This record gives sequence, structure tokens and C-alpha cells, in this order.
Amino acid sequence: MLGAPGAGKGTYASRLKEKLDVETIATGDIFRELAKENSDLARKVKGYMEKGLLVPDDFVIEVLKQRLSKIPKGKGFILDGFPRTMEQAKMLDAITKIDVILMLDVPDWIIIERLSTRRICKNCGTVYNILYLKPKVGGICDKCGGQLYQRSDDNPEVIKKRLQVYKEQTTPLIEFFKEKKIPFVISGTTALDQPPEPIVEKMLVELKKIKLA
Ligand code: AMP
Repeated sequence: MLGAPGAGKGTYASRLKEKLDVETIATGDIFRELAKENSDLARKVKGYMEKGLLVPDDFVIEVLKQRLSKIPKGKGFILDGFPRTMEQAKMLDAITKIDVILMLDVPDWIIIERLSTRRICKNCGTVYNILYLKPKVGGICDKCGGQLYQRSDDNPEVIKKRLQVYKEQTTPLIEFFKEKKIPFVISGTTALDQPPEPIVEKMLVELKKIKLA
């Protein structure tokens, strides 16, 4: 799944996971868990995240390889937030067959607005938005009853930095995957209040055409 922060990667991945019976790996979630630990490594990772910078490739690649090794043989998976650099993309291409790039094309203004109002369940990670994707009860997750929180990097300054990092370091991957002739399914959002379900349904239609759903 390729797209800027706030493009909806986590939201769509969690819905596709259920429909396609695949696993999802979100490197951001892995690093947020790690950042809670009391160690030098955890503090370093936290430092990168809070500034909106990428965690260095060597470490990210190691973490991803370990996580991939836990996926049962033959089971599919969606990567949310990986790869984000050319080095990560090359590594992924070398160790696995990438069936499809789910590309999310969302204008910056929607991203900035969405991220500033995003809330996440502390317990299960489900993504909400206090204006556009509200939980049934304010501050509480519909799925598990967990408390919702705002990510510390979802603030205007860090959002700007994350978008800049995405443009500089991640968008070149689009060309890389195109050259590798990997199929693309491109989805977009043009309105802030667009619910995710119809977009997921369209993705599934496209995935069926290439026999991935
Ligand atoms: P995310 O939840 O995907 O927005 O990721 C949150 C933060 O985790 C990012 O801003 C980076 O600091 C770090 N991160 C997540 N995935 C990667 C990756 N593939 N490469 C480098 N840093 C990452």
C-alpha cells in the first residue's frame, strides 16, 4: 500500500484484511510499540518519529524481515507504510513477489485536514476521525471499547515534515515499481467526508480483475 501519511493506508488495509483474509503489517505500529520501551533504541526510534523523519533503512529492513518470517507460508499480506525508501523497495523486491501496488492518491489539503483530526484506538489501532469518521460514542472505539488517542506526530509542523519526506523519499518508488511492471490499483479521495467502504469495494473490483480477490 503506497501513499502519503494520512492517505488512508491503515484504514483501507484493516478493511481489506477482513475481506481478503490476509495479514497486515504496519511498520509505523511496530515502531510505536517499540518506542514505548525503556531502552536507547526505543528512544532513538521515538526521536525520528516525533520529528517526522524516517527510521534508518538498516533497522527498518531488519524489523520487517523478522515480521515477515512470522507469516505462515502461503498466507497473503498487505504492507502498510513499507517500503518508504528506494533501498527498502529494492530489498522487498528481492525477497518476495509483490502482486500489486495499492496506490492512494490524495491531495495535500485533505491529508493535512484529516491528520489533524485523526484519532486512533489505543487498544486495537482502528483509525477514526473526530469530524469525518466518528466513533459511535465519542472517544471510544466501536470495535473493542478501547480509548481513542491522538498521535504525537499528528500535529501541523510534523505533518508538514512527513509530507515533505514522503515526496522526497517515497514518491520515486512509483517509477521503480512501474519499471518492474508490477500492477497498480490506484484509488483516490477528493472529498474529506468520503467514507472508506465504497473505495474498498472499488479496490476489490480491481483486485478481482487481476485475480487477487
Ligand atoms: P506511520 O504510522 O506509517 O505514519 O509511521 C510513523 C513513523 O514511523 C514514520 O513517520 C517513521 O518515523 C516511522 N516509519 C514507519 N514506517 C517506516 C519505514 N518503512 N521506514 C522508515 N521509517 C518508518
